[in-house]
Amino acid sequence: MIVGIDLGTTNSLVACFTEEGPRVIPNRLGKHLTPSVVSVDAEGNVFVGETAKERMSLYPDTVAQTFKRSMGTERDYVLSGRHFKPEELSAMVLRSLKEDAEQFLGEEVTEAVISVPAYFDDKRRKATKRAGELAGLKVERMISEPTAAAVAYGLYDKTKDTRFLVFDLGGGTFDVSILELYHNILEVRAVAGDNYLGGEDFTQVMVKLFLHKAKLSLSDLTAKEQARLYRQAEKAKCAINDRTEVTLSFLLSEEKQEQTITYKEYEEACEELLLKIKEPVKKSLSDAGLKLSDIDEVILIGGATRLTIVKDFLIRLFRKFPDTKLNPDETVAIGAAIQAAMKERKEEVKEIILTDVCSFTLGTEVVVEYEEGQFEDGRFCPIIERNTVIPASHTERLYTTHDNQTKVRVKVLQGESRFAKNNLFLGELTVDLPKGPKGSESVDVTYTYDINSLLEVEVRVVSTGETRKMIIKGQDNQLTDEEIEKRMQELAYLKVQPRDFEENRLVLLRAERMYEESLGARRKKLDHFLSDFEAALKSEDQNRIRETREELIRILDEEEE
Ligand code: AMP
Repeated sequence: MIVGIDLGTTNSLVACFTEEGPRVIPNRLGKHLTPSVVSVDAEGNVFVGETAKERMSLYPDTVAQTFKRSMGTERDYVLSGRHFKPEELSAMVLRSLKEDAEQFLGEEVTEAVISVPAYFDDKRRKATKRAGELAGLKVERMISEPTAAAVAYGLYDKTKDTRFLVFDLGGGTFDVSILELYHNILEVRAVAGDNYLGGEDFTQVMVKLFLHKAKLSLSDLTAKEQARLYRQAEKAKCAINDRTEVTLSFLLSEEKQEQTITYKEYEEACEELLLKIKEPVKKSLSDAGLKLSDIDEVILIGGATRLTIVKDFLIRLFRKFPDTKLNPDETVAIGAAIQAAMKERKEEVKEIILTDVCSFTLGTEVVVEYEEGQFEDGRFCPIIERNTVIPASHTERLYTTHDNQTKVRVKVLQGESRFAKNNLFLGELTVDLPKGPKGSESVDVTYTYDINSLLEVEVRVVSTGETRKMIIKGQDNQLTDEEIEKRMQELAYLKVQPRDFEENRLVLLRAERMYEESLGARRKKLDHFLSDFEAALKSEDQNRIRETREELIRILDEEEE
């Protein structure tokens, strides 16, 4: 079975295509979203998702998050004194999703279609692919996130050509993409964004508003108090969507601080952020050579598009209602799962042509005449250039460089250097030519490259029509099996936690965190219920464990309120 995976900055999801259509697979805690957070403790125990996130405030030195931002770089993450690359941390998230999918489907999952941001370059895509390989997943196809969103919305089903804009406002990033469906081909026309704008900025506005009204400054608060205020502000931000006002309260030095914030006040305070949102929208339109009124549909994805303030702003901007029928957190994973089904050629989905961009240049070696009669060999001639929308097919005509030349050898190369020797050699084809003066004979070299990384090279002698072809698979310098095996062995000391205890582990961590955050009677109460639960765990009596766990969760929810 091939699954679709949205490997997100904040959260990740796995989805599959069933007889009833695409669906998101619940993780071991029964949730759809798995936080993209990893924790490794001193003994080499690995925690992924909610549990890793909960460890953040208790054991910050053991936790890594937002590593997607560093994919494809050599950034070194140190967790409990051990070193990890961003792709290795991503591999742990992918492995966790793979296990959840296998448990849910009751079969092995060996392959995945993974979504990546449209602006991800070759390096970051390769790192994503390696992360998949390290997690034991074959990743032959990647899909750009806006394309996945469009596929999930079924826009490809339309018969009429459509232009749409995918508006993706996540926790910390903002991406706008313009796609065009033209003759059944879905193409990304332009992408723009702001790497430092997202839902968290809207939470910050709520924090500032509260502090201003309470006549407090952030420096009056300890780090833990700030974290607590931030959590309350996040809740207030989500609550204000369907209310005219919200009341935000939190404990500062054991004294309750409370302020009411109206929707109007919040909207005014967010004005600057809304203006910032406009910039990438304008840029993507101008890059695509389009006007606002040329957009037929607007699709919203990313958690922060749930903000009424943002939705209202977009309705005013585009003068139309955005399409929001799918859950914005799940749209990309659903699109990736549909793409996986297309790859498996499931009958329920019709194959449509998706495009992507080629993240490197493909070309050949040529001799260049730089001045009359002065030749230089070993030069690189690009045929399909980096960032070309694929599938693509380009032809270059090359002429003989010697009198009575009887053969032409076409070297297939990948890379960006002007000099052939610096680029990667992928293969070669030789054809015979009739004799003649130099420049009288020529060959047409055609490269056709598709989204499965298949490169077809055709060389045709113009005068005789003789044609030779070859197919080169996967120019992605994938890790060799030995390299994967080696790194997997290096990481073998890591102990992936058994799935069954996840819920207990998570409750324990949450209770410990809240214990640390509280004092006096509240602390005693938490200690009491926590001890009960710990005793139940020791007894290994499953009924007692379940009952005390539920009791503890109820107390924690109550206290957190
Ligand atoms: P994502 O990275 O797409 O998961 O988006 C995360 C962001 O969405 C965070 O800033 C959340 O606070 C925000 N978010 C999630 N749900 C809501 C909601 N109901 N209302 C407002 N913002 C939300």
